[in-house]
Amino acid sequence: MKEGIYLNLNKNYRFYIDGMWEESKSKEVIKIMSPYKDELVGTVQAISKDEADKAIQSAKIAQKEWEKLSIRDRGNYLYHWIEELEKSKEDIATTIMQEVGKGFQDAVKEVERTIDLIRFTIEEAIHLYGESMLGENFPGGNRSKIAISHRVPLGVVLAISPFNYPVNLSAAKIAPALISGNAVVFKPATQGAISGIKMIEALDRAGLPKGVLNVVTGHGSVIGNYLIEHQGIDMISFTGGSGTGKRIAKLANMIPLVMELGGKDPAIVVKDANLDLAAKQIVSGAFSYSGQRCTAIKRVFVDEMIADELIEKLSEELKNVTIGSPEENKMIVPLIDQKSADFVQSLIDDALEKNATLITGNQREGNLIYPTLLDHVTPNMRLAWEEPFGPVLPIIRVKTVDEAIEMSNQSEYGLQASIFSQDIDQAFIIAEKIQAGSVQINGRTERGPDHFPFIGTKGSGMGTQGVRRSIESMTREKVTVININ
Ligand code: NAP
Repeated sequence: MKEGIYLNLNKNYRFYIDGMWEESKSKEVIKIMSPYKDELVGTVQAISKDEADKAIQSAKIAQKEWEKLSIRDRGNYLYHWIEELEKSKEDIATTIMQEVGKGFQDAVKEVERTIDLIRFTIEEAIHLYGESMLGENFPGGNRSKIAISHRVPLGVVLAISPFNYPVNLSAAKIAPALISGNAVVFKPATQGAISGIKMIEALDRAGLPKGVLNVVTGHGSVIGNYLIEHQGIDMISFTGGSGTGKRIAKLANMIPLVMELGGKDPAIVVKDANLDLAAKQIVSGAFSYSGQRCTAIKRVFVDEMIADELIEKLSEELKNVTIGSPEENKMIVPLIDQKSADFVQSLIDDALEKNATLITGNQREGNLIYPTLLDHVTPNMRLAWEEPFGPVLPIIRVKTVDEAIEMSNQSEYGLQASIFSQDIDQAFIIAEKIQAGSVQINGRTERGPDHFPFIGTKGSGMGTQGVRRSIESMTREKVTVININ
């Protein structure tokens, strides 16, 4: 981390409405505390329902003019956004580090990845075309009917993002929405809101017309339902926990939804796997950013014949895992808050009470949980099923591949899965049977590159993300039929 880039600590951040940065008339602010220091990072506004109304109204009005601009003109605003993000990269990365406790280098990578994602989104949108169809292809039809279809924006998109990638996962909603002519009401995670605001300050500096994007801040539990049920919202793109996602899906009124939710991604290690590769990928997949990734590997199914050898290699790998402060780019950092650490600890305690074997870890300092590996985890333990969002990995020994597949699929989640096998045919057969949005063969579960389709099934979500799919999800087809008489 660079010296002297601790900017604006304790600043009161405003929300963004109709092109202006405002303090809430509620006079209420929310304190954002550092997850790793007893320090206030800043405060954000707890906006009122009236202000939420105004934000949505402002977006509604601005959208009408925004969609009239050519796609290249909209793209130019986003290119300027990229330029501004480049200039403030270190400041934004520092904020991500301070606010959500991500290692500084990873935070820089998050901003760089976001810049690439925005650029790719502009280019992809520019190269998406509509189609035409002749009536004659359908029985009884003829050439006197010609359909021309192209994509049109949905209107006002409500973008709700989680804390763990406060910039990347927000931009992954905002960029496709804007390029395709929608306006956006952006509700960042409260812990993550300052990072989101800084990203939008860059968009403001890029000269985005007023009202095209508004930032609303406040606890989801307080203003969330109001936003979701609001008649002015035409589409919701949400990333967060499955419980929150399910509540949103129940409340939303007949509008398109894209949901990226939680996961319990399994790694299945087959007898013939390259165990060195598997151990490396599993440790990095499970423990990066303390396991606070939706696509972290959250359970391992291993053939009992090779389980001891795999555990030995995992233990060796774990010796390289660094623990401490995000300012020193450690891999294991304090979790986002005390409550999350208590939850992870409760899963560890439950497994140990039910006779799981502790290989390493189960040490705690406040909300810093040391990387914890547990063997002989069985289906009666919560850790076999629940998403910890922390640095704990259960090993579940199985007798057959079918047993691993069956337990993988018993989960309420279906985000991703990894299969480690040197027999590519076998890996494909397993991949076919796994209920997940994506299956990684011989690699860790992860999102990206960001143009790959990204899907959650079952409790892990609905709809597809990934640059082109995100654009498609925020637009609909419009068909005009020419009748030649
Ligand atoms: P979360 O608690 O569900 O919060 C996500 C967002 O929803 C936040 O902006 C939150 O606002 C908001 N929210 C909360 N209650 C709401 C309500 N009633 N109405 C509308 N919005 C509401 O999730 P998180 O702790 O930030 O993130 C961790 C979870 O996200 C994990 O389960 C992880 O697996 C999942 N995730 C999934 C993906 C994926 O791509 N599948 C990616 C990243 C994370 P507040 O912050 O103000 O509460």
